[in-house]
Amino acid sequence: MSETNPKLRAELEGIPTYKPGKPAAAGGPAAYKLSSNENPYPPLPGVLESVTAAAESFNRYPDMACTGLMNELSDRFGVPLSHLATGTGSVGVAQQLIQATAGPGDEVVYAWRSFEAYPIITQISGATSVRVPLTPGDVHDLDAMADAITDRTRLVFVCNPNNPTGTVVRRAELERFLDRVPADCLVVLDEAYREFIRDPEVPDGVELYRERPNVCVLRTFSKAYGLAGLRVGFAIAHEPVAAALRKTAVPFGVSQLAQEAAIASLRAEDELLGRVGSLVCERTRVVDALRAQGWTVPESQANFVWLRLGERTVDFAAACEQAGVVVRPFAGEGVRVTVGEAEANDIFLKVTEAFYKEL
Ligand SMILES: *Cc1c(COP(=O)(O)O)cnc(C)c1O
Repeated sequence: MSETNPKLRAELEGIPTYKPGKPAAAGGPAAYKLSSNENPYPPLPGVLESVTAAAESFNRYPDMACTGLMNELSDRFGVPLSHLATGTGSVGVAQQLIQATAGPGDEVVYAWRSFEAYPIITQISGATSVRVPLTPGDVHDLDAMADAITDRTRLVFVCNPNNPTGTVVRRAELERFLDRVPADCLVVLDEAYREFIRDPEVPDGVELYRERPNVCVLRTFSKAYGLAGLRVGFAIAHEPVAAALRKTAVPFGVSQLAQEAAIASLRAEDELLGRVGSLVCERTRVVDALRAQGWTVPESQANFVWLRLGERTVDFAAACEQAGVVVRPFAGEGVRVTVGEAEANDIFLKVTEAFYKEL
């Protein structure tokens, strides 16, 4: 066999691999998965039906333009079709945005710690990541992020609420930040958890996009709408950016099953948002209980909570798994725990109670 391997791009060396949330092991002690911020509710019967019907013709390619879904989104958000683009989850769309804006020598700015896909998709493109530490309160440091922008910055991610800390940036500070970003630098407002926000001071990115040509909003059907396994997300952006997204899309990336499920979900929005409301109540219950136990917990506007456990992170995650819930540890930093079924949250709270006493 030859000693020579195919030449691969040097940029791929050392790319951190995306760590999916650990599944709840079948037959193991951990029955509940609180590690991927998924929706714990099963698909709505009507959504399931539309997917099952679409399954009858999966010998055919999907509608490449996602016509039905694009029309629904256009009506729903009051934006022209030319300002919309769909993709294989909003991670897929985020990767297309980087492909469309940045390459070797360019910079992509984001907060850290934030969504773990950002460093991966940035490095794949050959661009350089510029990570701006969160404030001591685990919030985006927007002033420092604006200071970090240079002539080479092509894209800035603002994850609002931030994964994994659940913290938000509010209207005044976000507008002040946007005012400082050069017009030729794209700001991507990643609003994967938008539907879980209850703080009225958090702006709707779609309102900000309307007046600002360099703002792009990312949304997903994976979290509030419960379609994580079907892979569909979308961007709302002004025409040149949305057009670039259509150019960089993998042809036929969004399956017909995903398209039909997304349409059915938008039509069943009241019911789905009712479920989101229940999860928000659970979030309040979990955060209140943690604080009553003595924990310091940042205010979460998403479907997860963040415990900054530092060196105890891995031990805590192991204790959770032993008790029956899988959580998402970031070794040396903290644990992100999805708000799930009440029974799962109860198990988690039992672990935190016992663990706090040993701290
Ligand atoms: C979950 C998540 C996404 C959405 O991912 P999909 O690819 O749409 O499933 C995007 N951004 C952040 C910050 C997330 O946490």
